[in-house]
Amino acid sequence: MTTPATPSTHEPLNALLRRMPKAELHIHIEGSLEPELIFRLAQRNGVALKYDSVEALRTAYAFSDLQSFLDIYYAGASVLLKEEDFFDMAWAYFERAAADNVVHAELFFDPQTHTERGVPFETVVRGLHHACQRAHQELGISSRLIMCFLRHLSEEDAFKTLEQALPWRQYFVGVGLDSSERGHPPSKFERVFAKCRELGLHIVAHAGEEGPPAYIEEALDLLKAERIDHGVRCVEKPELVQRLARERVPLTVCPLSNVKLCVFKHLGEHNIAALLQQGLVVTVNSDDPAYFGGYLNQNFVELFEALPQLGAREAYQLALNSFEASFVDQATKDGWKRQLDAVFGAAL
Ligand SMILES: [Zn+2]
Repeated sequence: MTTPATPSTHEPLNALLRRMPKAELHIHIEGSLEPELIFRLAQRNGVALKYDSVEALRTAYAFSDLQSFLDIYYAGASVLLKEEDFFDMAWAYFERAAADNVVHAELFFDPQTHTERGVPFETVVRGLHHACQRAHQELGISSRLIMCFLRHLSEEDAFKTLEQALPWRQYFVGVGLDSSERGHPPSKFERVFAKCRELGLHIVAHAGEEGPPAYIEEALDLLKAERIDHGVRCVEKPELVQRLARERVPLTVCPLSNVKLCVFKHLGEHNIAALLQQGLVVTVNSDDPAYFGGYLNQNFVELFEALPQLGAREAYQLALNSFEASFVDQATKDGWKRQLDAVFGAAL
């Protein structure tokens, strides 16, 4: 008897997907706030919520587009007031990430969501940083923080946030651009990203989720983005797809989020398999897992169930892409690749 070259049923493939080491590069830490934790923090801080139970809050998660999601997202974030609240939120994420065999996570945080409520920048970044340190020590997960600017606010506001962040420069490795995409093109933030590049920060940007392919091109050409978050609408412009493949610009794709926000009607329609086949450095991520129906392994498992053309080979490539696209040194990436090779063994 020999071991089959590829898993013959969904069960072994699912096990492989869960077990393989992987990096998560598109996770908004505020989007990992589960209703239970929102309630616990609300009680601890004496914050009144519009919802009288965890169930009522869960029900309110039935949003229909990016804007209605953002409304509830900001309501949830209102319970975050103290350093320990930010720690607890990130720690809860790291525990789930460890269970999913995430070896490295690059966490987005939205300081403006907090500073405009009167929470100091320092409180946010210290709490998150502490959780990152503990995750490394206790869970063996390495991590980086990426500060995002809210694009529905002005560039002037982004400049103010960058100013506040400067004393904490060593706590984050890059900057990103998130929140409502439509009507807020990357070009609106060209100057502040130029300043960030001067500071040696990595650059990423959400583009091509609800916005057109032109926003992806602006993110690349004007902001000099090294990674595009989402980017799935690139398929509307074939020469852009070719460029992304040629320049090896990673796309951090979020399958369950895309369905929840109606970017695709269902997972069976998702274009990630096609993008992978065209040689793009696509990765799988959870985006806002508390709101979109699952953490990283859930995204992998549901995606592979919905797209039969995805098998062990594609699973390996997606994990490898997540390492290639991460902001760490090559030796670290090589180490993760060896771990990945050990898990796949004869499955390829
Ligand atoms: Zn996102």
